Amino acid sequence: MDVRGMKSKFPGADPRVPGFTDRNFKPPLRVMVIGAHPDDPDVRCSGFARTLVEAGHRVRFVALCNGDKGHQFMDSPDVARRRYGETRNVIKTLGIEDYYVNDVPDCMLEPTLEERAKLTKLIREFAPHIIITHRPGDYHCDHRAAAILVQDATYLVGVPLWCPDVPVPDTIPTVLFIADRFSTPHPFRPDFVIDVSRHEDVIARTFACHESQMFEWLVPEHGFSLDDVPPESDREGRLEFVRKSALHLITDMAHVFSDAVEKAYPGRNPHIVEAYEKSEYGRPPVKAERDLLESLGGRWIDSTESKWTQVK
Ligand SMILES: [Zn+2]
Repeated sequence: MDVRGMKSKFPGADPRVPGFTDRNFKPPLRVMVIGAHPDDPDVRCSGFARTLVEAGHRVRFVALCNGDKGHQFMDSPDVARRRYGETRNVIKTLGIEDYYVNDVPDCMLEPTLEERAKLTKLIREFAPHIIITHRPGDYHCDHRAAAILVQDATYLVGVPLWCPDVPVPDTIPTVLFIADRFSTPHPFRPDFVIDVSRHEDVIARTFACHESQMFEWLVPEHGFSLDDVPPESDREGRLEFVRKSALHLITDMAHVFSDAVEKAYPGRNPHIVEAYEKSEYGRPPVKAERDLLESLGGRWIDSTESKWTQVK
């Protein structure tokens, strides 16, 4: 085929051309946090999300399952309805623009062609500069499936003949992984950290939005008895309960990744940090994006560029 002068199937420029994203980048930054369940995006990203929203950037959360299995007293349809309502409260509390909840039941998420196409379209419609998701070696089958789906869809976002009814956007995403403590196949590597201590209150209130989790299903997992939970009418008591039962999920991170935190914020000892690892299967963040996130208080501590295998 003589390709000179031929009309491309891309609606705009070819996103694989070097410098494509640099040339197209202009704030606001669009960030999409994709978790398996309705609470996964919140647990490790509420502070970062709040930081972005406050600075006028755009954030959407996505849960790829409907949350219908996590309860010890209720039936699945009722749990799913309730958890959807809880995500509406998260939207208000954090100020994010959407919290999409997929219609796949818990424990049943698989990286199927149908879900791959659905997710590709969802990503294209928002055109995020950054996607944040689970690492593929996570403990939960739905988390792993979500990670694979994101990995698959992220590359296909830039392939115009895949799902041609939704056009390729003007940016394809960088992928960051949510922090975890798993060591197989390798321990989490904090490449980007952000001090979110000033958002402690809004983080606690975001956690408290997930009433069916924080005050019911997860209580034993957090080491408490159901009898320890203050009554529904005691809003302040419940907020305090969240602080002591669940907030350690994020406050612990400053200690777990203390070397990285000290490198990022020498001598400052921030109380709450959120940390992210760069996936090598997304687009490397461009300088304008890196600078923007540093201007919001974040710190890139990736000493060497990862071996990026996809679009440069
Ligand atoms: Zn989950």
